[in-house]
Amino acid sequence: MPVPPPTPPPGAPEDRTDDPRHPALAAPTAASVPDLDGLVADCRACPRLVEWRERVGREGRRAYTGWDYWARPVPGFGPEDAALLLVGLAPAAHGGNRTGRMFTGDRSGDVLFAALHDIGLASQAEAVRPDDGLELYGTRVTAPVHCAPPANKPTPAERDTCRSWLVRELTLLRPTARALVVLGAFGWQAVLPALAEAGWVVPRPRPVFAHGARTVLAAADGGPSLELFGCYHVSQRNTFTGRLTPEMLREVLRTAARAAGLDPVH
Ligand code: SF4
Repeated sequence: MPVPPPTPPPGAPEDRTDDPRHPALAAPTAASVPDLDGLVADCRACPRLVEWRERVGREGRRAYTGWDYWARPVPGFGPEDAALLLVGLAPAAHGGNRTGRMFTGDRSGDVLFAALHDIGLASQAEAVRPDDGLELYGTRVTAPVHCAPPANKPTPAERDTCRSWLVRELTLLRPTARALVVLGAFGWQAVLPALAEAGWVVPRPRPVFAHGARTVLAAADGGPSLELFGCYHVSQRNTFTGRLTPEMLREVLRTAARAAGLDPVH
């Protein structure tokens, strides 16, 4: 039976914006991507999401009996010198929230990693658990919200709170990042202000999300530009209905990989 969304508990100290563990204060202190990943994994800034991710972890699902759920924020996954970035929405309750790795252990990840493997950017097509040996080549996957939200719907306030982590991640990746694929309209809305804060120029009016959308963002300081791509999210709603086919996904990823200076196969 589905677990009802939680009632937000009283505010934990970490949700206060003057607490040093709050993303707005902690994220800028991350000196490297691994450093950032460690800080993200300890975040408790959103009381509703903390309660939800931990409750899902305690209660589990019959199909995953025996799993010790991660039940914490899920950091980005992939090399810290990635040229191609993929930004989704948030971890799935029984996917990333269970395994502790982005897009790992759910149907969306099955589709995404199969496509990345098809074009030579992933070492294997399957992602089932953090110790399965999967490597990404020149590619990093992350999300604007690092905790699994009830009904896959973070609130605007949760999205905005988590933005500090994304801004820092984008800032740290700026020396090598040359292309970014956003999976879905929610991610698109979330990533544009983060890109602006990280140092790229986002035009006004803002680019509109569409599958196949493509635009170049100049760097505000004259550094390398970033090419931004839109792609339908790899959710079951899109992949089961044929709105997003494997070839449509491969085509966007292949084009973005070339824009990033990578050398996809096929
Ligand atoms: S969603 Fe982001 S800001 Fe909120 S608790 Fe999780 S990691 Fe922290």
